[in-house]
Amino acid sequence: MADKNKLEQAARLILEAIGEDPNREGLLETPRRFAEMMEEQMAYTTVSNEEIAREFGKTFSSSEEGPVVVKDIFIFSHCEHHLALMYHMHVSVGYIPSGRVIGLSKVARIADAVSRRLQIQERIGADIRTIIEKVTGSQDVIVRIDGEHSCMTARGIKKPGAVTTTISSSGKFNTPEYRQLFKEML
Ligand SMILES: [Zn+2]
Repeated sequence: MADKNKLEQAARLILEAIGEDPNREGLLETPRRFAEMMEEQMAYTTVSNEEIAREFGKTFSSSEEGPVVVKDIFIFSHCEHHLALMYHMHVSVGYIPSGRVIGLSKVARIADAVSRRLQIQERIGADIRTIIEKVTGSQDVIVRIDGEHSCMTARGIKKPGAVTTTISSSGKFNTPEYRQLFKEML
């Protein structure tokens, strides 16, 4: 649970630091709104990957042998270097079932959960992969993420549209054949 009082104080300090008057009408409720937004967006900060795996860990037995791919799960997150928004992120997850499959909506919920922490894009992919491995028992998992980072698009070198792609993979998905198969299924 986030410390909402501290978040409200911090928001007031930021407003003062940039030369704003936190007591003007438009800003009166801003610290409270900011605190609620942060609490929501960082809700999984103190929740481990093991706990997320338990929360969304419902699987079904299946004789499916080919890769299962769930693509275009849209998420956003915040980078740990600037607390800046990472947006337009879409996640695609592939895995080779070893007797069990996970509900498709659970894959989206897992992606959503790990994004509600301060992150870097590479770790979001690794976290999703680790949790999918735990939940399904599969040793062959791949996660591709494409995303824009506002710390690159809206500050510093300001390159809107610059997309960062990361891949985290294990087992068979480290081989060129399975990489290619995953690519064809996207
Ligand atoms: Zn950043």
